[in-house]
Amino acid sequence: MSEKPVLTIALSKGRILEQTLPLLEFADLMPREDVQTTRKLMVDGPDDWAGSKIRFLIIRAADVCTYVEKGAADLGISGRDLLLESKPNVYEPLDLKIGQCRLCICGPKDAVESGKSAAVGGRVRVATKYDNLAAQYYRKQGLHADVIHLYGSMELAPLVGLADRIVDVVETGNTLKANGLIEETTLFDISSRLIANPASFVTKKTQVQAVISKLREAVVDREMERNK
Ligand code: AMP
Repeated sequence: MSEKPVLTIALSKGRILEQTLPLLEFADLMPREDVQTTRKLMVDGPDDWAGSKIRFLIIRAADVCTYVEKGAADLGISGRDLLLESKPNVYEPLDLKIGQCRLCICGPKDAVESGKSAAVGGRVRVATKYDNLAAQYYRKQGLHADVIHLYGSMELAPLVGLADRIVDVVETGNTLKANGLIEETTLFDISSRLIANPASFVTKKTQVQAVISKLREAVVDREMERNK
């Protein structure tokens, strides 16, 4: 008997994972271990799902695009922020409507409310992990962004004089508020997307399409529950 094909799905660790699991559960696509607590990075899923064996990779959100683009995973779940920033060569067949937030330019409350430009000599110091999006935004304003690349806790940078503005994702706005910052401009609405490797989209068409349509049903079901 021939081995079943394996379909590999890359999941983002962290806050998105919690919201991903109910969608996977709806689709009968549950990992066989608790992916929120296991230290394993590769976890088995169902043995026979639409004729495939499912395998999950549990990796950092920022790495999901790379695994899917290079074909190490057939499918993945990635925030739109990361897709916009790194523009990977992947398909984006479904908005999962989880991890909803917005990508914003933020700054100290007084400075933003004064309405004065943050630019000095046409340059703005911007702390972010979205280097390309920040540079692109300021370029369109006719300004140069001196990008200070940080890996997290951007909100600290203006408080200690490291940057004039930050470009980061904001959900409730509580972190900004706690640090005396406010939103200046919203750049993009963000949510998590199902992404697919373009070759897998063709070579594993039946299985990939089955995952897309089952997750689409899960998204619709979740929206209906939310709107009840
Ligand atoms: P909040 O206080 O709810 O606005 O959340 C802001 C903090 O959480 C910031 O440090 C963000 O980097 C992070 N954050 C907010 N939403 C998301 C998201 N959907 N995905 C990843 N990080 C997020």
